[in-house]
Order: sequence, then structure tokens, then C-alpha cells
Amino acid sequence: DQVSKTVGKSRPAIANALRLLNLPDEILNLVNTAKISAGHGRTLLSFKNPDDMLVWAKKCVTDDISVRELERIAYVDAVTGGNNYESFKKKLRDRNVSGYLISMDIHSFKIVNSICGVAKGDEALRWISENIRGVVGYNDISGHINADRFVIFFADDKINKVIRKIETINLQLIKVSESLKIPKIQPYFGVTKWEPGKKVEEAYGEANFAKNRIKERKDVLYQIYSQADTERIVEEKQMEDNFYRDLNDNHFEIWYQPKYAPKTNKLVGAEGLVRWRRENNEIIPPSKFIPLFERNGMIKALDEYVFREVCTHQRRWLDEGKKIVPISINLSRASLYFESVVKRYHDIARRIGIYTHLVPIEITESAAVDNDEIKSIADKFHGNGFPLLVDDFGSGYSSLVTLNMKCFDTLKIDKSLIDYIGDSNGERLLVHTIALAKELGICVTAEGVESQEQVEFLKNIDCDSIQGFYYSKPLPLTEYEMLLD
Ligand code: C2E
Ligand code: CA
Ligand code: CA
Repeated sequence: DQVSKTVGKSRPAIANALRLLNLPDEILNLVNTAKISAGHGRTLLSFKNPDDMLVWAKKCVTDDISVRELERIAYVDAVTGGNNYESFKKKLRDRNVSGYLISMDIHSFKIVNSICGVAKGDEALRWISENIRGVVGYNDISGHINADRFVIFFADDKINKVIRKIETINLQLIKVSESLKIPKIQPYFGVTKWEPGKKVEEAYGEANFAKNRIKERKDVLYQIYSQADTERIVEEKQMEDNFYRDLNDNHFEIWYQPKYAPKTNKLVGAEGLVRWRRENNEIIPPSKFIPLFERNGMIKALDEYVFREVCTHQRRWLDEGKKIVPISINLSRASLYFESVVKRYHDIARRIGIYTHLVPIEITESAAVDNDEIKSIADKFHGNGFPLLVDDFGSGYSSLVTLNMKCFDTLKIDKSLIDYIGDSNGERLLVHTIALAKELGICVTAEGVESQEQVEFLKNIDCDSIQGFYYSKPLPLTEYEMLLD
């Protein structure tokens, strides 16, 4: 802070200036007592004693370099010789035009440093910087932040033109890797709108936010920032933060959607579907949180909770002398992926006192055929007496291999296939799929059945059971209970 006051500049600017100074011997001696760490080819100084820093800086300012010179140096990027972030910010603030601010990063740039050496890496950064400067126009600004991070401002209100410039930079950089004979330089960009008066740091933060969303996606070149995305991310963060607390406090409820046999119109089963009741009593459907929990792994705890709850309810109804039907539960791919999963579920059912055949397990087709490991887990579940259902059959790339996996007892035909009823080709597809399944000894449940016409059709082709709004929506516990004799 003292140094900053001395030359009136911010800390990063000072740090940058100090890096660029040619150090006189006596100062070098002083520096030698300070910690010098070399990272990514640049030498960073840090002093044990802040006073040493002050002495050093004052010395530089009075002896060698004028404040003006120091200022000039403070705005020049050490590696590329172009704008650094300080300079970029200053220039953008001074420029009174709207446009787009772009944050640029390079996929796995550290490979260049580690394979080709840091000197080559720095050379590549200089080339990259020059190529960017070749694309930016008179009114645009570009700068180097640090490492492989760059920032660009395009003074253009037309997003299409900005994207074209981004694409040009991308093509230029591929050529850079060719001429330098280094691994492919593949940039990715975050883009946000800029208006005069907006804080540069804020805009840069937005562009970074957008950019980081495609960090793992080498097939996407740029991402445009949107407020809605931020809101969604904030919402997801809140859901993650509240998850374990709400799970403990029983804020997750199981709703039951009955399955009926079309021939007799009798209740033959149900599916347990999770709902999240928030503090304000609002009910959140699974589509809002399951994909998130599948990504972050929390689904494992949730699926187990649902299973436990269903077993507990089944047990209570038995104790009350009710005639129960099997209630299937859903297991996400992530829930299948741990060593003792089968034993764990089997133990839970045993402890609660429920036969495993009363709690069948639904696995989506894509998870089931995915790999041998899951196949063997499915086999184990089956071996432990859990009936297995292929969920969402026909919603993605369906495969006849699924039908031939011996462990599946029931095929759940997805709503998207049921919606074919009324179309002659689609109907034939259904007729033959169901016939094939039955010939292999597999039962068939139709999902998402909404109309009388669909029920009639399915009844005529011997579909075993139907789950859909035609019969019933998913019901809260007390309403489902009333269906049991
Ligand atoms: P799913 O397993 O395919 O469940 C069926 C979904 O279709 C349910 O939506 C149900 O309400 C809806 N549905 C049923 N009949 C009809 C109909 O006639 N018309 C229409 N338009 N929709 C119908 P829900 O309850 O919102 O569940 C959505 C998905 O969330 C489920 O799809 C399942 O993949 C997942 N899910 C629900 N609970 C759990 C859970 O405990 N664990 C896991 N891993 N996933 C769950
Ligand atoms: Ca399901
Ligand atoms: Ca389904």
C-alpha cells in the first residue's frame, strides 16, 4: 500500500512495473534476500519485510526511473508487450462506446509449457497476442490478463460481426500452432455486452462466467453471457446448499403414480416419484433438481432416501392390513456406481422388513446398456430378488440388446412411443416391440398414457399395465393410500 501511494498506482500495476525494471546491483542484493519464485517462466518477488519492498521501490523511482516511466511500464504487459489488464481497463473506461467484452482462454495451454518449455510458451503467448491485435480494429482494445488469459473489447453492437471476429481469431491461432510447431492452440471465449458506465471488472466477470461454462467443451467456441444463466446457477447453488438439511428434515416427499392393468382396470403397481417441498410450501418437480443432483453426485443420497421411504410406507400399509402392490423406484446411473450398492439396498429392505419383490427398480435404458459394470450390478440386483424395469424405453437410441439382457423383467415404453398411437407406422412399431418383448418373457408397461384411444390400443395388443394421466397423476401419500384395499 505504501508503494502504491508513492507512485499512485494500484498494486497489480506496481507489481507489473517492478517485474519489468532492470534492477541495479545493490537492489538485486536486496532482492536476493527476498523470496523469488519462478512460475510459468515469470519471476515473482515477495519480500519478507514490507519495508524492504518500500526501500526498493523508492530507490527505483528516485534513482533509475522517473514516475512517468514507471507508469508507462505499469501499463505494458511483461510477456506480450501489449496492454495489460490495468491498461485495458483504463482504455475501455476512456472509450465512450458500447460493444462486446470478450474473455479468452486456451484449452490445456499448460501442455505447451510442459512439452515445449516455458520460453516457447511465452513465445506462443506473444504470437497469440499479435494475432489478436491483427484482428482488433482501430476502435477495439485487446489485452493480456495473465498466463493464457486474454481480454478483448469489440466496439461493435452487432453480435454477428463480433462472432465472426472471434472465429477469425480462432483460425489465426490454429495457424500459430502450425508455424510454431506446438500442440494445437484452441481458444474458447466468453462474451458479454458492454455499455459505457458499466464496471469493467463486472463485465469481465460476466464474460468469464460465460466462458467457464464451456471450459470442458472443446466443441464449443464461445458462450454468450445471459442474466438468466446466472440466476439459474444461483438457484442451483441454493439447492445444493439446502439439500442435506432438507433431506434430514424430510422435505422430500414421495408421490405415487398408480399402474393399472387395462384388461381389468385393477391397480397392479405404482411408481414412487420424488417431490421437494420448499419452506414456502412450494412443490418442486424432479425435473428442476434431479439433473443437477445427477451432475454433482447428490442423487445417490436422494435415491437411497426415496427407496427407504417407499420400503417404510409399504411396511406400514402391510402392518395396517392393507393389500399392497409393488412400488418401483428410480435409480440414476450415479446411484448404481458404487461397490456395495446392491448389498446396501438389500439390507435396507431386510431391516425394514420388506421383500425385495415389492420394491422393483427402474433403470433407464441408456444407463443399463451403457457398460458391463452396470450390467453386472443389474444382474446382482436381480439376483437379490429385485424385479428390474427398463425405464424410458424408446426415448433415446433403443437397442434390441436391451431386450436380450436377461435381468430385465419389465419394459417401460416411453411416452414418446405411446404418442405414436394414431399413426400407422408408429402403431406397427409398438405392436412388434411389445410382441417381441412378450415372446422373450418380458412384461410391458406403457407410460404417459393420456387418452381412451391409447388405452384401447394397448389393451388390444396385450400390454400388461398402464401408467399415465388417463388413470391417475402421481398422488401424495394420503391420496394413494385410499386406493389400497
Ligand atoms: P420417469 O421415471 O419417466 O417418471 C414418469 C414421469 O412422467 C413423471 O414425472 C410423471 O408425472 C410423468 N407422467 C406420468 N404419466 C404421464 C402422462 O400421462 N402424461 C405426461 N405428460 N406425463 C406423465 P415426474 O414425477 O415429474 O418425474 C420426472 C422424472 O424425474 C422421472 O421420469 C424420473 O426420471 C425422475 N425421477 C423422479 N423421481 C426420482 C427419484 O426418486 N430418483 C431418480 N433418480 N429420478 C427420479
Ligand atoms: Ca421411472
Ligand atoms: Ca419413464
